[in-house]
Amino acid sequence: MKEIIAKRTKLIDASGIRKVFALAAELEDPVNFSIGQPDFDVPDTLKDEAIKAIKAGLNKYSQTAGDSLLKEKIAEQVKNEFGWAEPAVLVTSGVSGGLLLAFMALINPGDEVIIPDPYFVMYKHLVNMLGGKCVFVDSYPEFELPVEKIGEAITGKTKLIIVNSPCNPTGVVYSERQIKALAEVAAEKDILVMTDEIYERFCYDGDCPSIAHHYDRTLLLRGFSKSYAMTGWRLAYTAAHESLRDVVEEMTKIQQYTFVCAPTPFQQAAIAALDYDVGDLVDAYRKKRDLLYEGLKDKFELIKPGGAFYAFVKAPGGSGTEFVEKAIANNVLVIPGNVFSEKDTHFRISYATSDEKIREGIEILWKLA
Ligand code: PMP
Repeated sequence: MKEIIAKRTKLIDASGIRKVFALAAELEDPVNFSIGQPDFDVPDTLKDEAIKAIKAGLNKYSQTAGDSLLKEKIAEQVKNEFGWAEPAVLVTSGVSGGLLLAFMALINPGDEVIIPDPYFVMYKHLVNMLGGKCVFVDSYPEFELPVEKIGEAITGKTKLIIVNSPCNPTGVVYSERQIKALAEVAAEKDILVMTDEIYERFCYDGDCPSIAHHYDRTLLLRGFSKSYAMTGWRLAYTAAHESLRDVVEEMTKIQQYTFVCAPTPFQQAAIAALDYDVGDLVDAYRKKRDLLYEGLKDKFELIKPGGAFYAFVKAPGGSGTEFVEKAIANNVLVIPGNVFSEKDTHFRISYATSDEKIREGIEILWKLA
């Protein structure tokens, strides 16, 4: 029979997460440590902005690159933050949308993309799907930015280095010193950096340093999904120094023929979101981080996460997959490390759930260690 499914689909492996979800469907009221989104709802004032926009008839396509007011506001913020005089801005359908557009605009078959391991799962599959080659650089066991190893991994084919801080799945926030050192390594070889800062607001022990401060050849990806709990609204942006305007323009061109634009009424709410202070929510998440870390540290091997809402914990017994099966059999949903890594030695906890569930989860995990 003729093969109807394109070969590129074979380059994507969804089995790891699918297995967890299949097992999860059978559980009643589990401790769900698997979800990558906040447990709070969109703040009411932002919901009102979206409703107002819908009622005012802002329900048609926006400009491909985004509503001009929103773009202006984003440009103003990144200008103030990074000193870029004329930043290039594109509003995307989530950071996921931005990632796809950026990879499509940048990656030729055979191009190498350097990715610290563990990594956010989407990078690997999108790069593979486009015929690029992922070059993973091990960041175990501390999960700090492996600057020296990244330098060694650069070849004539390197197109891009990906940085994700705070990091999914480790929760680690890279230090100013590491970020600066990477900027120097990248500048020396003139390699583009993509910084995925979707968790920038979830930073618990001080600021979250951005490589965009130190290196102009940086594609900055930030989103609204996590900061305001609007994962279903599909909103994010890509911004860059004017010297990378051509990249952002190519991404915009591809958006025109794929996503067309980010959801128009929600773009109106995003204008208000940029001024919305999520400090209280972040304080609550800092407490969740402390609750989880203090609860696990005497029984498990884990690095104290500085941001996002994840912890990447060493699996007792050595196999992430085996420990996760055991945890799920005991009503705790976690994700095996090999979904985010070339290794299978850890598991990821998302503590984006109620304090009560975090306590319940800690108690069960203790019994399994
Ligand atoms: N980057 C990272 C590191 C993520 O964890 C996520 C969501 N899990 C995304 C990007 C994509 O988020 P969204 O498309 O909702 O903006």
